[in-house]
Amino acid sequence: MTDVNQQEGELIEAARAVRSQAYKPYSGFAVGAALRGKDGSIHVGCNVENASFGLTLCAERNALVAAVASGVREFETVAIVASGAGPLAWPCGACRQVLAEFGMDWTVLIVGEGNGVLRGTLRELLPHNFVLPGGPHDPSAGDA
Ligand SMILES: [Zn+2]
Repeated sequence: MTDVNQQEGELIEAARAVRSQAYKPYSGFAVGAALRGKDGSIHVGCNVENASFGLTLCAERNALVAAVASGVREFETVAIVASGAGPLAWPCGACRQVLAEFGMDWTVLIVGEGNGVLRGTLRELLPHNFVLPGGPHDPSAGDA
């Protein structure tokens, strides 16, 4: 568990607020995510479930899509708030990979129902993300 600064607290409150918009008729599990861009802007998303289950979209990816649609592609922090008193909800593998498209040095804040907050970086959560050979994130691109 960790302390948060004022900006992180603001981000956590944004994630908590958007969590109430979650569409979760199947699981009842509500998640809110808020991203802070390097320009200071905040972008939010909630989970949106689907009858086909596999098409369900996570809060983290929905927040990222909203951010990119508004022109923001550089981020510093994501706060994730899930419902319930169960274990803290770390991002799923799909969300980790999608967030990694926009950098590995994000701070990730996982927030519980009480005051508990876990802190990590995306690099810690996904140390070996997929990188398309020859793509824009390939460290060897341009060496061929
Ligand atoms: Zn996810």
